[in-house]
Amino acid sequence: MSNAKARRRARAAIVEFGIRMQVERLAYWTSGNLSMRVPGDPDLVAVSPSAMPWDLVEPDDVPLVRLDGSVLDGTTRPTSELPLHTLLYQRRPDIRAIVHVHSPAAMAMAALDWTLPAFLTGLVEATGGSVACAPYARPGSAQLADAVADALDGRGCCFLRHHGLLAIGASLPRAFQAATVTEGAADAYLRARSVGTVSDLPADEVDWIAEAWHAQWSGADTGTRG
Ligand SMILES: [Zn+2]
Repeated sequence: MSNAKARRRARAAIVEFGIRMQVERLAYWTSGNLSMRVPGDPDLVAVSPSAMPWDLVEPDDVPLVRLDGSVLDGTTRPTSELPLHTLLYQRRPDIRAIVHVHSPAAMAMAALDWTLPAFLTGLVEATGGSVACAPYARPGSAQLADAVADALDGRGCCFLRHHGLLAIGASLPRAFQAATVTEGAADAYLRARSVGTVSDLPADEVDWIAEAWHAQWSGADTGTRG
């Protein structure tokens, strides 16, 4: 694929998944942001624009940004949460896409500082297991990127204390899957906890299902088990 084609496709994918983010009620108003590395140019990311209604965003509006934060192209400013994206890509060369949202059940988990246990097959398939909550750090800071990188160890998603949720993937669909499935599972967990006891899946089942999540990183994506 040519550089120009890869850039065009990445920008279109950001718009497509930005709209899906709103359709699936993962983001209110203009909150929430997402990014992906441009295939063939891992130092370059397509990232969502700052404070712009998604129904007005065209692919050409989507900023292309180097990992040092410099904007290569685009008619709009990148999201104000750009450092969270670029610092994570710098720390983790394997991450190819990031979805960050302030969705309701994730915000509740972030408010409570709770870990979402590995209690549903779909959650484990989407994230690799339980979902931890990263300690609070100021938005845009290197400390927040460090805290998130620690909480993501071996997982596709984490909550951000007093803030929201961040999901990663070897592709944008995988990062989006981790975000939206975690939001749904967190909602189910809060409902179930309010009326009864929630138990974890057996550990050997978690390990077996999580293989479907691990496979994306080796390029051997086998699809779902959950
Ligand atoms: Zn945020």
